[in-house]
Amino acid sequence: MIRKLLFIFIFFVLIFTIIYGSDNMNKNIVKISEDFYAVKNFGGNVAFLIAEDGVVVVDAGTSLSAGKKIVNIIKEKTDKPIKYVIVTHYHNDHILGLDAFPEDIKVISSEKTKENIENISVKQKRENTEKRYPEYIESIKTKLANMENTESKEYEEMEKQLKETEEFFKEYKNTDIVIPNETFKNKKVIKLRNETFEIIQYPNTHTSGISIVYFKKRKVLHTSDLIFNNMYPYIDSERGGNTENWIKALDEISKMDINTVIPGHGDIENNKNSLNRQREYFKTMRRNIQEYINNNAELEEIKENLKIPEYSNYGKERFYKLGIETIYEELKNR
Ligand SMILES: [Zn+2]
Repeated sequence: MIRKLLFIFIFFVLIFTIIYGSDNMNKNIVKISEDFYAVKNFGGNVAFLIAEDGVVVVDAGTSLSAGKKIVNIIKEKTDKPIKYVIVTHYHNDHILGLDAFPEDIKVISSEKTKENIENISVKQKRENTEKRYPEYIESIKTKLANMENTESKEYEEMEKQLKETEEFFKEYKNTDIVIPNETFKNKKVIKLRNETFEIIQYPNTHTSGISIVYFKKRKVLHTSDLIFNNMYPYIDSERGGNTENWIKALDEISKMDINTVIPGHGDIENNKNSLNRQREYFKTMRRNIQEYINNNAELEEIKENLKIPEYSNYGKERFYKLGIETIYEELKNR
């Protein structure tokens, strides 16, 4: 239950940093090379390549309005139609924007991701719409009503949270979950007139069914959520997320011929450093947690005592602790 609540919480945090942190459009668009762009701050990082035959997009943003903004950015750069959207995995911050895209496009994902969208995202939306969000909104209202000092900073923040949640919920209710219409099992190579790109699944890493997208000629890799660049990574262990597999995947990926890495979250870099840092993060965390386990430490003790200064500026402490919890469970249960 706690895990579930945390997940929803993370989901909220992602949503809100995104929509409200993105007023200055130009700040969100990163030119990778000729006719190739990344779009940041609308959920998971989006990339689009304007090929001769049409536009190829990786991921679709975190909400209907994020999706609309992404489509507009693409339209500003080219008259060519959007041809493909590749969906890397089922998490809301990568798929909800799909509803804003034209209907006649190919939406490509791994079979497992399609299955996850059908089974998890659709169900989650129903539950969130009918129950979780209304309850969550009610709980904020109750808290507000019980606060004595309506001039306090806390009250102000709570009011803001309520407003943002209500706004998000209004849109979320009316967003259709788009199901991919073309799937592959492990890997798919798409050859366009002048470009080739590969979609490669690395299952049970960040989550099940997740894929990366490699733009061969450009030597650019969109890693999706296999990289949270300089941030605490989220491990979706309830859906197959596993750090041992994740490290192995990063080992393999780092052998690829890459000049630029677009992570799922965080900054784009023209080197492989983010790949290596992500791998080191998991290795360090696993090594440290294993040491505590070997000394018969309890989870709470580890969460209290394990501090790694290198990662102290990676974000909110509760995400760090959630990571410890997940890795602890993984190491304990193997
Ligand atoms: Zn994700």
